[in-house]
Amino acid sequence: MSTALVWFRRDLRIADNPALCAAVAAGHTPIPVYIHAPHEEQPWEPGAATRWWLHHSLLALAADLKALGSGLVLCRGDTALELDRLIEQTGACAVYWNRMYDPALVRRDASIKEGLRGRGIEAHSHAAHLIAEPWEIKNGSGEPYRVFTPFWRKLKTCLPLPEPLPAPTSLTPHEVSGVELDSLELLPRIDWDQGFYGAWSPGSEAAREQLDEFAIGALENYAQGRDRPDRPGTSRLSPALHFGEISPRQVADRLLRKASLAQRELAEPYLRELGWRDFGHHLLYHFPHTTEQPLQSSFADFPWAEVDPAQLSAWQRGRTGIPIVDAGMRQLWATGWMHNRVRMIVASFLTKNLRYHWLHGARWFWDTLVDADLAANTQGWQWTAGSGADAAPYFRIFNPITQGERFDPLGSYVRKYVPELAHLPAEHIHQPWSVGGVRGYPKPILDLKHSREAALAAYSELRKGI
Ligand SMILES: Cc1cc2nc3c(=O)[nH]c(=O)nc-3n(C[C@H](O)[C@H](O)[C@H](O)COP(=O)(O)OP(=O)(O)OC[C@H]3O[C@@H](n4cnc5c(N)ncnc54)[C@H](O)[C@@H]3O)c2cc1C
Repeated sequence: MSTALVWFRRDLRIADNPALCAAVAAGHTPIPVYIHAPHEEQPWEPGAATRWWLHHSLLALAADLKALGSGLVLCRGDTALELDRLIEQTGACAVYWNRMYDPALVRRDASIKEGLRGRGIEAHSHAAHLIAEPWEIKNGSGEPYRVFTPFWRKLKTCLPLPEPLPAPTSLTPHEVSGVELDSLELLPRIDWDQGFYGAWSPGSEAAREQLDEFAIGALENYAQGRDRPDRPGTSRLSPALHFGEISPRQVADRLLRKASLAQRELAEPYLRELGWRDFGHHLLYHFPHTTEQPLQSSFADFPWAEVDPAQLSAWQRGRTGIPIVDAGMRQLWATGWMHNRVRMIVASFLTKNLRYHWLHGARWFWDTLVDADLAANTQGWQWTAGSGADAAPYFRIFNPITQGERFDPLGSYVRKYVPELAHLPAEHIHQPWSVGGVRGYPKPILDLKHSREAALAAYSELRKGI
C-alpha cells in the first residue's frame, strides 16, 4: 500500500476534512503530521493565547486519530525540510493539505507545492476553511469586493453547501513517531492562562457540542442577543473555527439541513457573520498589505497620536476608568476572548479617543485572544479605525457610556469583570464619577468629549488632504 502525508494545519478535525478524505480515497496509508514552524508566520507568529489553544487542540486531535487506529506525528523546524525528511523516512509519494490564506503562508505553501511536484511527489491542496475560496467571489468587473453587502449577496448563492464529508471509520496504523507535544513549548510560562481552563474545551468534539447547544438555544434570539455582552447570546465558536476544529460547512449543515423556512430565517443573521469571516479572508488574500497598511490609502498620513506607555498599559489591563472598556479588556485577559460588541467599543476607544494607531490594539489582541486570526483581526481593527473596507465612517465614534447603558443595561457584564464597581446600581455603573468615583477604581484617563472632538479635528485635516 502506498503512503501519503496528511499535513494538518488549521484543520484540526477528522470529520469534513477534505485532505484526509482524499488521501484515504486514493488508497494511501495516511500519516497525519503537524509541523510547528511559527517563524514561518512572521511578522504574525501565533500569539500566546492561540498557542495555548493549539496545545490542547493538538492533544484532542491526537486522541481522535488514536481512536481510529492512527497517530499524529508532531515535528518542529522548517516545514519544507521536515516534509522532505518524513517523505524520505516513510517513502510517501504524496502530500495532502487544506489551504490557509495568511500572506506568509500562501507564499510558503506555493513554494512547497512547487518543490514537491518538482521532485515527483504529488501535492494536493484542498478547500476546507471557508464558505468559498477568496478567488471564487468576484464583482461584475471581475475584481475583488471591498464592500460587504454585495459580497454577502454573492457568497449567499453558495448556500446551502454540499454535505460535510464523514470522518473515516478507521485509519491504517503506522510506525512513524515525532517529538513530544511539550517540546513545542506552546503553553505560557506564567499562570495567566488559568482562567482559560474553565472557559474553554478545545477540540472538535467540544466544538460540535457547543454548536448543538447554540443551535437549540441562543440561535433563536441571535439577531438581537448577539449584541448583548451580559448574556450568552453568541456561539463562541471563533477559536474552533480559526483552528478548523469545526468547518463552516459543518456549521451551515447543522443549522440548515432539515430546517423549516422559519428556522432558516433564524439562521440567516448567524450565517451572515460567517460571511464576515469569509469577507475578512477575501480582503486578506486580495489586499495582503492590509495587515500593516490601511486599505484606504487616504489613511496613510493620518495623524495618529504619540503613544503614552502608561495610557496604553491602562487600556491593555482594563484600568482606563471607563467601565465597559475595562470590563472588556479584563474579560480578554481573564478568558482569552471578548464579546464582539465590546471589541468594537474598546477598539474605538483606542483608535479614536486615544487616537493610537490601530496596530497597537491589533498586536495586543493578537497575543491575548484565543481566536486571534489574521483575517478577522485585521478586518476588525481597520473597520473600527475607519481605514478598512466597509468601514464605519471615522466620525462615528462609539460613546462607551451610552454603549454600556444600551448593551449592558443592568450593568451585570461590568459587575462581573470590574468587581470594584459591583456595588453600584445600574444607573451609575457606567459612569462611576456620577457618584463621586469609587475607591480603588481609576478616574477616567481622558475626557471623552474633548478626545472625541480632537479625533474629529484630526479626521477633518485628513479630509482636506484627500
Ligand atoms: C477589533 C476587532 C478584532 C477582532 N478580532 C478577531 C479575531 O482575531 N478573530 C476572530 O475570529 N474574530 C475577530 N473579531 C470578530 C468578532 O468579534 C469575533 O469573531 C466574535 O466575537 C467571536 O465570537 P462568537 O464566536 O461568539 O461569534 P458569533 O456571533 O457566534 O459568530 C459566529 C462566527 O462568525 C465569525 N464572525 C462573527 N463576527 C465576525 C466579524 N465581525 N468578523 C469576522 N468574523 C466574524 C466568527 O468566526 C464567529 O465565531 C474581531 C472584531 C473586532 C471588532
